[in-house]
Amino acid sequence: MGFLKKLFGGGEPKKYVDTQGVYFYVECANCGSRVRVRADKQHDLQNADGGYEWHKTIVDSRCFRRMQTVVQLDSNFQMTSHEITGGRFMTEAEYLAAEEAEKRAKAVAEAKESANEAEEDA
Ligand SMILES: [Zn+2]
Repeated sequence: MGFLKKLFGGGEPKKYVDTQGVYFYVECANCGSRVRVRADKQHDLQNADGGYEWHKTIVDSRCFRRMQTVVQLDSNFQMTSHEITGGRFMTEAEYLAAEEAEKRAKAVAEAKESANEAEEDA
C-alpha cells in the first residue's frame, strides 16, 4: 500500500492509467480541429504480421468530415506506419502543445474582452 501511495502521490487523486487503450491524435485537414481517438487493444485492433492493425473512420466535432485511417502497430502498440485521408496524424506532444496554445489564446481574448468591458463601464 505504501508503495502504491508513493506511486500515486499520496493524497492527490489517483491518476487513472488506461492500459487497455491506445491513443491516436489527428488533425482534420478541412477545419483544423484536433481529435483524440482511443482504440481498445482487445476490441479495436486486429492481429497482423506479429503486430496489430487499426482501421477507423474518425469524425471531428466541428465539420464532421470523415477521415479514413489504417494504422500499423508493432507488438508493443507503437505506430509503425499509417495512412490517412482527410487529415493528418499528430504526436501526443504536438496535440497537447496545440491544445495549450488554443487555451492560452482563448484566455488572452477573454482577458481583452473583460478589459474592454471595464473601459466601457468607466
Ligand atoms: Zn473538420
